[in-house]
Amino acid sequence: MRRNTVKRALVAFALALPGAAIATVAAAPAAHADGCYTWKRDLYQGLSGDDVRQLQIRVAGWTSRGGIVRIDGDFGPETAAAVKRFQSAYGLRSDGIAGKQTFTKLYQLQDNDCTPAHFSYRELDDGCGKGGWSGGPLSATDTKASAVRTMWKLEALRRGLGDKPLNVTSGFRDSSCNKKVGGASDSQHLYGNAADLTSGSRSLCEVARASRDHGFSGIYGPGYAGHDDHVHVDSRRENNYDKSTNRTSWAAPDCGVSR
Ligand SMILES: [Zn+2]
Repeated sequence: MRRNTVKRALVAFALALPGAAIATVAAAPAAHADGCYTWKRDLYQGLSGDDVRQLQIRVAGWTSRGGIVRIDGDFGPETAAAVKRFQSAYGLRSDGIAGKQTFTKLYQLQDNDCTPAHFSYRELDDGCGKGGWSGGPLSATDTKASAVRTMWKLEALRRGLGDKPLNVTSGFRDSSCNKKVGGASDSQHLYGNAADLTSGSRSLCEVARASRDHGFSGIYGPGYAGHDDHVHVDSRRENNYDKSTNRTSWAAPDCGVSR
C-alpha cells in the first residue's frame, strides 16, 4: 500500500515535469531551508538515520493514548502512525510519509533555535530564575535537548486543545531550585523532561485529559496532592537516567485520569 503510494506519486511527479522545469524543481529544497534543520529526502517506514530522528522529535507528541514515539532514528510503524496523526491535525494528506507538505509544515512550526513556534527555551528554563541548563543530573547539553523534546510534545498538546495558549509555570529546575520548591527528589524537572502547565482558556482537567494523547507518560493534575493549581506532564518512560522504572504514571483523580 505504502510502496504503491510512493511509486504512484513518483510517476505522477515525473509525468508532470516538462523538461525545462527540471532545473527549477531540483533547486526547490533550498527554498525551504530552515535555520534549525533541513530535511533532504522523503522519509517513510523502513528508513533510518539522523533525519528520521529529527522527524521523530517533532512528531513525538502525536501518539495513540498512552503511547510514545521512540526517538531512535528508525522509522517504524509507531513513527508512521505519529506522522499520520500530525498530518491530520494540520489538515495535510494523512499518508504517514514525511514529504514536502509535512516538512513545509514543520518548517513553519519550528523556530531557528529548534524550539517549536509557541514555546521557548526561556519559558522552559525556569530554574528559579537562575537560567542556564546546568545543575541537574545531566549535562547542560542533554538537559537542553530534553527540553526541546518536551516542547515539541507541548506544541502537539496545544494544537490538540484547539490552538489555545498553554503557560509553562515551571520547566527545568536545577537541584537547589528543585529542593527550594519542594519537588520530588528525583523529579523529572531536574532532567528538562517535565513542564507544569496552566491555561487561561481550558480547564486543568481538559489539559490533563488531552495530555494522554500527546506522548506524556507522566501526568499529575487536579485531585493529586499538590496539583490542584496546575497540570504536571513529563516523559518519564523515555528517561533512562532517573532512578524510577520506565512506566507510565498518570494521576488526576478529579479528571478521571489514572494509570
Ligand atoms: Zn511538575
